[in-house]
Amino acid sequence: MEVQLSFYLIFLVLFLIGLSIGVSAVAGQRNRSPRAWFFISLICSPLMAILYLSALPIETNLETDGRVSCPRCCERIRSYAKVCPFCGVERTSGQNNH
Ligand SMILES: [Zn+2]
Repeated sequence: MEVQLSFYLIFLVLFLIGLSIGVSAVAGQRNRSPRAWFFISLICSPLMAILYLSALPIETNLETDGRVSCPRCCERIRSYAKVCPFCGVERTSGQNNH
């Protein structure tokens, strides 16, 4: 039945999109671009994307050079800086507000 086939296809596409949203959420948690990973997941497969994501090291805010990205302007600032030199936001150490 053709109706059943198209229904199945729509279901499959929705399922893929749903999984891709999940992948992009995981990517976001790992400081990766959620949009890019959403498309990677759609084009390849969510399973591939999630496996690849988990294989990648987590890109944390703390870099090896001791710099973090400012939560407000996203400029790279020294982790011990109290005030962001770019936007002037006061950084409260210990708290990681996004
Ligand atoms: Zn800033």
